[in-house]
Amino acid sequence: MIDIVDKKCCSGCGACVEVCPTRAIAMGVDGEGFRYPAVDVSACISCGKCEKSCPFISPKSCAEQLPDGLLLADDDDCRRAAASSGGAFALLASDVIAAGGIVFGAALDGDWGVRHIGVERVADLSRLKGSKYVESSPGDSYARVVEVLAAGRRVMFVGTPCQVAGLRRVVGKPHPLLLLVDVACHGVPSSMVWKQSLKEFCDKENISPNDITAIDFRDKVKGWKNYHFTITHTHGSYSTREFPYIMGFAHDLYLRPSCHACRIKESGSYADVTLADAWGIEQMTSNARFLDDRGVSFVMVHTDKGREAVAGIGAATIERVDAAKMLQHNRSIVTSAPYTTERERFFALLAQGGSVAYCVAKAHRISPKQRLERLLTPLLLRLGIKGFTKKLKRK
Ligand SMILES: Cc1cc2nc3c(=O)[nH]c(=O)nc-3n(C[C@H](O)[C@H](O)[C@H](O)COP(=O)(O)OP(=O)(O)OC[C@H]3O[C@@H](n4cnc5c(N)ncnc54)[C@H](O)[C@@H]3O)c2cc1C
Ligand code: SF4
Ligand code: SF4
Ligand code: SF4
Repeated sequence: MIDIVDKKCCSGCGACVEVCPTRAIAMGVDGEGFRYPAVDVSACISCGKCEKSCPFISPKSCAEQLPDGLLLADDDDCRRAAASSGGAFALLASDVIAAGGIVFGAALDGDWGVRHIGVERVADLSRLKGSKYVESSPGDSYARVVEVLAAGRRVMFVGTPCQVAGLRRVVGKPHPLLLLVDVACHGVPSSMVWKQSLKEFCDKENISPNDITAIDFRDKVKGWKNYHFTITHTHGSYSTREFPYIMGFAHDLYLRPSCHACRIKESGSYADVTLADAWGIEQMTSNARFLDDRGVSFVMVHTDKGREAVAGIGAATIERVDAAKMLQHNRSIVTSAPYTTERERFFALLAQGGSVAYCVAKAHRISPKQRLERLLTPLLLRLGIKGFTKKLKRK
């Protein structure tokens, strides 16, 4: 029976809830805003299925082979602009929908929370496009995937590596109609902190959440590398690199505890394909299409099914790349973020009633040198003096 003693040992994937034959497990939310399973002991028949299905308790043991590596940029500039990286997700997803399938991924809901939904029309893929830097709730998506597969339709499921691992355990062995895609994952921040941060923003701007029309965590309006956080509302729009919530995420102040000891990163991806940002691209190619700062995907292909799916992509610029070298530029794909005392300080201050903006500023104390760099960076960028300072840690 599942018993969460150490919170670092549960990613909240929800696989245990799905496999329990007596529905004895339900998800609850803790004081930091993360979801954990709780067992109703009176309904438990001690079958052990929950523990066997848990990718954190029983991770797969096979050594991961180095995947095929590809650089990819969508040839359609509008679609590429709407994607966080080079737009690999939408290209793969369009093919699945064209073949009569359903695509499951993370969407912002009516309250600006993040949850997994399924879409069947290419027009609706816009709801799934773009990274949302908030823990997404899988909701009933695993159960729906199982139903759709049983009906003989193709499915593409996109999520964090632990969500993909969870679904894989729920489905059992690899299913011929199921394409599993995970996104490289630095870690997921707390939905509770996100909601509080949004409320603080609305209070400051004197608007209601209902006035918000769009939120883009990775707006490329000033370039892929210099991405901005943008909120559009009925009275205007607000775009910045220094939104307190994003700053706190960049400094790992409120990641899920399991993201500091990720068992999936240790054991290897359960997906057919992994999608990431092609950070370090300048050292990997001279192709001008990839160097235009509009976003490039680093695609890692793990299986034959993944190879087949990627081979079906049309209308994109694609180039082979050495995956091992690419990984050197993007260590968060394979290593967990360190657990720091700053994180503890943040939640202690938040519990005392501090605002997210205040707690981020207090928990992450920047040095006088960093403060000076931050003041001078916009000026130096405008003057074209690049590389003066390290920008926000890239996710
Ligand atoms: C929390 C998080 C952390 C990440 N960390 C890194 C990193 O450290 N290094 C790196 O190279 N890339 C990271 N990525 C992946 C990267 O930001 C892009 O999502 C990825 O490269 C796909 O981009 P795209 O252009 O192909 O498609 P996009 O159109 O950007 O597609 C985004 C896809 O991501 C899914 N998604 C969005 N938000 C979430 C979420 N909260 N939970 C689960 N799935 C989600 C959507 O369903 C969609 O399928 C992270 C993504 C997320 C969500
Ligand atoms: S041991 Fe079996 S019945 Fe008990 S909670 Fe786990 S899956 Fe459910
Ligand atoms: S990691 Fe997933 S399967 Fe394991 S206990 Fe947590 S929610 Fe359940
Ligand atoms: S870092 Fe690991 S545990 Fe955290 S969301 Fe990503 S895959 Fe899951």
